[in-house]
Amino acid sequence: MGLRNRWVIGNWKMNGSLAGNAALLGAVAAAPSGVGKLGVCVPFPYLGQAQSALADGAAVWGGQDVSEHASGAYTGQVSAAMLVEFGASLVLVGHSERRQYNAETSDLVARKASAALNAGVTPVICVGETLAEREDGHAEAVVGQQLSACREVLLRAQGAAILAYEPVWAIGTGKTATPAEAQAMHAFIRATLRVLGAEAEATSILYGGSVKAGNARELFSQADIDGGLIGGASLVAADFLAIAAAL
Ligand code: PEP
Repeated sequence: MGLRNRWVIGNWKMNGSLAGNAALLGAVAAAPSGVGKLGVCVPFPYLGQAQSALADGAAVWGGQDVSEHASGAYTGQVSAAMLVEFGASLVLVGHSERRQYNAETSDLVARKASAALNAGVTPVICVGETLAEREDGHAEAVVGQQLSACREVLLRAQGAAILAYEPVWAIGTGKTATPAEAQAMHAFIRATLRVLGAEAEATSILYGGSVKAGNARELFSQADIDGGLIGGASLVAADFLAIAAAL
């Protein structure tokens, strides 16, 4: 393994049921250990179930969001310390669906990443441009701004945060960035980390957006792509494990 960890992380989004999760978590728990690390980000009510199913294996688990606050009058929010109580070691922050449907700003995303880091939970900081932003030629500017907002937390993380590049137009659409398009943005992200003074070589940068068993290998073989954040395909055990095997 090189300087960076290689990861395949599933994002279940708002899917699952106690009965349905059991088989999926069982398959993840039984996955052969490979060169990379395996993780699943599950809806909050299923953290305990993930903990029970995965505790003895190599795979890790986490949430899909976290509060910027430590505790208090924040109805509906979940703190990083609560995630830790359920053994979570990962949490997604700034997923495009939260930026879009919950009006999360890049500054809020940075504060959430900071709260996670403070509690010892690895933030998976998601960045990415919309189709309109790409077509207008602003993809790098948008992603650069999303990263700049996280400068402080990235400096503090010293490589312990994970980044996920997820072009919004590729999430759940069946459209994947080509390996060359994805690699170009990943190289830009790594260069931006250097410019910000953050740890660039040891930071894992994952690609997300319609990754499937059939396209994972080529994406993951790009120099600056250190694995994937997987939405839809993480709900089908055989697909998720085939993607993990592509690492
Ligand atoms: C995601 O939700 O992070 C994602 C990448 O979704 P999908 O794989 O379904 O495009």
